[in-house]
Amino acid sequence: MMNHRRNSPAALRFEDRRKRENEAPRLRDTVPDLVGLQLSIEDRSGMTSTKHLRRFMVDSAPALFLVPCADARCAEGEHDLTSAVMRALREHKTTFQGDDECMGNVGLGVCSRVLHFDATAEYRS
Ligand SMILES: [Zn+2]
Repeated sequence: MMNHRRNSPAALRFEDRRKRENEAPRLRDTVPDLVGLQLSIEDRSGMTSTKHLRRFMVDSAPALFLVPCADARCAEGEHDLTSAVMRALREHKTTFQGDDECMGNVGLGVCSRVLHFDATAEYRS
């Protein structure tokens, strides 16, 4: 079927996230003097941890920070860092960090994977 891929749960979640990102206010409008933002995202699970860096285009990025759960088996897993990040940006913090526990489900259990982020922000002086 042509639509099989498009209708998979992962694809639907991606579509949903993109829709919410499109509808969210822009970073530029919410924190007008922000000029740079990057998040170092660390996903810890048992013995392993993976880390990646996300740089944001502050002129076009939405004021919405959603990170999908790194566990492929996790259903509905998503970390919403929006309120933590936006609060720090409004306070003009240049570095801040936080943790978010996944509320998704893996099989019959709760995922509870923890995402840790370290953020660096720059503002117009
Ligand atoms: Zn999860």
